[in-house]
Amino acid sequence: MNTTSIELDKIYDLAFNVLKKYGCDEFNAEAVATTVTNAERDGSVSHGLFRIPGYVSSLKSKKVKGNSKPSNIYLSQNAIRVEGDYGFAPVAIKVGIPALIETTKKHGVGVLTITNTHHFAALWHETEALAENNLIGIACTAYKPSVAPSGAKKPLFGTNPISFAWPRKNKTPVVYDMATSTMAMGEVQVAARDGHKVPFGTGLNKDGEKTDDPSQIANGGVLLTFGDYKGSAIAMMIELLSAGLVGDLFSFEAKNEDNNDGGPARGGEFILSLSPDLIAGNNWNEHAEKFFTEMKLLDGVRLPGERRHNNRLNKGPRLINSELIDKIKSL
Ligand code: NDP
Repeated sequence: MNTTSIELDKIYDLAFNVLKKYGCDEFNAEAVATTVTNAERDGSVSHGLFRIPGYVSSLKSKKVKGNSKPSNIYLSQNAIRVEGDYGFAPVAIKVGIPALIETTKKHGVGVLTITNTHHFAALWHETEALAENNLIGIACTAYKPSVAPSGAKKPLFGTNPISFAWPRKNKTPVVYDMATSTMAMGEVQVAARDGHKVPFGTGLNKDGEKTDDPSQIANGGVLLTFGDYKGSAIAMMIELLSAGLVGDLFSFEAKNEDNNDGGPARGGEFILSLSPDLIAGNNWNEHAEKFFTEMKLLDGVRLPGERRHNNRLNKGPRLINSELIDKIKSL
């Protein structure tokens, strides 16, 4: 794979300018370009510039509104719905998260339901934003079906990611963010593009047989959930929270309505926020730090989020797939 070295501010410009070119206003383009740039900064490669052609396709087809104006609707004192106005999810998140932080700090618990948006990004952006404000964050979203429930050979679930962030005083938070499939579809697509194999059993080919060939999974095959029926149960919970509770589309409904332009399908997101200051009281940070110390004393353990946060310390240029840069420049 040929790569091109590119500074983070140039990555931002590349994303921002092409989004503006295809109809995003400043507010919408800024939200998405920041999410994309932060993904490249942290080494979340499958959710960085790799997603720009899809974002652009959905602007071109007018599936997504580039001038969306999300607004917060208070359902109760601590449940807020962001009406996403059919824009990209990072725009709705930018509008909803400050309100969620304020509410959670007041009441100890806050729920943000995001609806009528198009989600194509990693979820750590939103949970980490909560943890940076001394709150615990849990977020999940469903997507178009590409994952078979345990026992099945046909897709019904999306890759349905879930993220959890735990705040740490004067330290970067502990954050996990993972698809409930064996692998995120973005990772499978990147592996197929770069000619790499994936672990055997990541998914099934179109004949329902286990394979290690990412292109067979991405084209007519199906992914499996992690941990068989256990991951399948969590994927089901995510469908119920982000579609059933939020009142937006289940994965199978998103598929029926999507125009398959290669951009993100419409859907919802569920975010739960908790204040340890109000719920656990004094000393929660020191108590949790003791636990992390015990964890780290075990050989081979690293905390989730550490890889990304270490990547973030590097302020220099990132190596981006050259074909991808050419593709974005040609849009
Ligand atoms: P990974 O399997 O790469 O990582 C999952 C989590 O596990 C990360 O938080 C990672 O931390 C942590 N981790 C990895 N290895 C270890 C280890 N050895 N010890 C401790 N922790 C570890 O992620 P996925 O491929 O499952 O998902 C990738 C992204 O795709 C996610 O950001 C997800 O939100 C996104 N996604 C988005 C979708 C959407 O519709 N918007 C759909 C599906 C996925 P670290 O980051 O530090 O490595």
